[in-house]
Amino acid sequence: MLAAGARRGNRSVIVHAAAAPSAGQEINESGYANRRGLSTHDSSDYNDSGMKTGILENFTAIESKRFADLRPRTRDEHARRGKGLYAGVPLHWMLDWPMPFPMIVASAQGSAITDIDGVELADFCFGDTGSMFGHSPKPVVDAITRQLGKGMTHMLTTQDAYEVGFLLRERFGLPHWQIATTASDANRFALRVARAVTARTNILVMNHCYHGAVDESYVTLIDGKPKNRPGVIGQAVDLTQMSKVVEFNDLAALEAALAPRDVACVMMEPAMTNCSMVLPDPGYLAEVRRLTRAAGTLLLIDETHTISSGPMGFTGAHRLEPDIFVLGKPIAGGLPASVWGFSEEIAAEWTRIRATKPAGHSGFGTTLSANALCLAAMRAMLREVMTESAYCHMDRLAQRLADGFSNVIRTEKLPWTIVRVGARVEFAFAAKPFRNGSEAMAAHDGGLENAIHLGLVNRGCLITPFHNMMLVSPETSSGQVDQLVRAFADVVPRVH
Ligand code: PMP
Repeated sequence: MLAAGARRGNRSVIVHAAAAPSAGQEINESGYANRRGLSTHDSSDYNDSGMKTGILENFTAIESKRFADLRPRTRDEHARRGKGLYAGVPLHWMLDWPMPFPMIVASAQGSAITDIDGVELADFCFGDTGSMFGHSPKPVVDAITRQLGKGMTHMLTTQDAYEVGFLLRERFGLPHWQIATTASDANRFALRVARAVTARTNILVMNHCYHGAVDESYVTLIDGKPKNRPGVIGQAVDLTQMSKVVEFNDLAALEAALAPRDVACVMMEPAMTNCSMVLPDPGYLAEVRRLTRAAGTLLLIDETHTISSGPMGFTGAHRLEPDIFVLGKPIAGGLPASVWGFSEEIAAEWTRIRATKPAGHSGFGTTLSANALCLAAMRAMLREVMTESAYCHMDRLAQRLADGFSNVIRTEKLPWTIVRVGARVEFAFAAKPFRNGSEAMAAHDGGLENAIHLGLVNRGCLITPFHNMMLVSPETSSGQVDQLVRAFADVVPRVH
């Protein structure tokens, strides 16, 4: 059986789930190869992070078997009933987890997930942010239950919509809002508006960013030159013809790229969160704002992940002044919805342009956008779930998590770091925080990540499958945080 990681492209390590420990390895009572018990003539190689790959593979194999042994029903169900789905799952991303076969969820409540074999995990992934305020928050369940019998989608507005518009404006500062179905969609629509109102075609993004399935963002620097991202499939046009890409925290490169005054919009996260985490240098974001204004370029801040910073996002916490603000994922508590807000100037120009065009086929909107069900959920989220007190709890426990992980790293004398953006905590295999996406990607170690993630799962904790991201929700308890720290403390010595 191929263990997890075999499916993870360039981050993969192929191991056999039932592999026996290599000669010379001592096995402790839990069945693990004990690194301190390794003989000096074991055949382990060292990988880029200085980790012994033999130990890593052995650990992953034993943990894969342990995962499988605990889940006979899941394994059977997946093998028997997965045939109707491409690759056996409804979304192929579900193969990106480190487990040897996909977990099948029976229920998710608050900060816990239970699978069909009855194994419960403390959730620190929360659907990669979609449920970062907890699974099925009660105010949302109540709101959508009320709405369910009154129609879910009819392409007409409801009273909830007015309340949502008011709440978004009040919370995030921008005067005009539209609702879309995903953050990818919101970004796409926002870029379209940006192009229209600036009458420019180019978009600028940060190297190794992620903003969803948005063509313009699928460019990267290879040997200093912009190229289509190597992983992109079915790409019909050369994206470098419409996108520029610079490294995060590189103001000189940004200034040079904006100089021809042909960039409609800079689309960025205020702290990168999709290639590990990269924080802005002091003063960097203020300079980005100054440079974009000077070049007549709009600034789109994508807060889909950095909403972890506080009730008003990174934007509110750091007084940023974006022209366009995008937030997807958790805004409807786990239902598919996103919001994008924009300035008075953009609204006025968009209105003027619309008046010059024939009606319809504008390239904006999708049929299910702003449906009644999502609006009911969003209203409940903004009013009752994404509250100041929820964020206080998240912040406090995220700090506890970061402190706990830092202690483990110190004890183990590892050259690793912890970065935190509010409720979002990440450990990285590098001695100091990254300054840009290239540094972050260079420190990636898929085999090590897989091993740690799988070890954590087997100790009752689920973290995000992409890099080493952990989220703390309003429902997370200090006991769960301590469980994760203990799990990390138990796993780390076994993989290095
Ligand atoms: N923007 C950011 C910053 C994201 O992290 C993501 C997803 N990880 C997206 C946009 C896209 O979200 P979705 O997949 O819901 O469209």
